[in-house]
Amino acid sequence: MQRASRIVQRGSTQRYSEALPLLRLPGDLVIVVRGVPRSIVIQCPEGCGEVISLNLDRRAGPAWQRFERRGSLTIYPSVWRETGCEAHFIVWNNIILWCDRADKPEWNSGMSCMRRMVSLDCSLIHAEPLRDSTLDHVDRSGYG
Ligand SMILES: [Zn+2]
Repeated sequence: MQRASRIVQRGSTQRYSEALPLLRLPGDLVIVVRGVPRSIVIQCPEGCGEVISLNLDRRAGPAWQRFERRGSLTIYPSVWRETGCEAHFIVWNNIILWCDRADKPEWNSGMSCMRRMVSLDCSLIHAEPLRDSTLDHVDRSGYG
């Protein structure tokens, strides 16, 4: 089982069913937009072959937030599957940061925001909103 280290954006569709054929490799990602962004559909980056769907629409319940900058995607908070492979990861500027086991990346000093996300022991499912200005700060610090 090969874990993906980055997500690959495969575009957007209007329906979940249309997103599925676009997913080929672990980490492939499609955004479902119907009027407003509805969900993110990801081929599980763990490599288990399952598809993960993340709600983006607050009207439909607890929702993830998505930030895009220069074509790079960040999703907040972390994604933690409670079933199946139990993958737990953060998508940060298209990079997949794994929260479990021994392969945590080394956080550099510019990643204060990242550390904050992880300092809660990766148990974020419904977390406080992450202000866009926080991401700006991280961007200017030279990361990426
Ligand atoms: Zn999986």
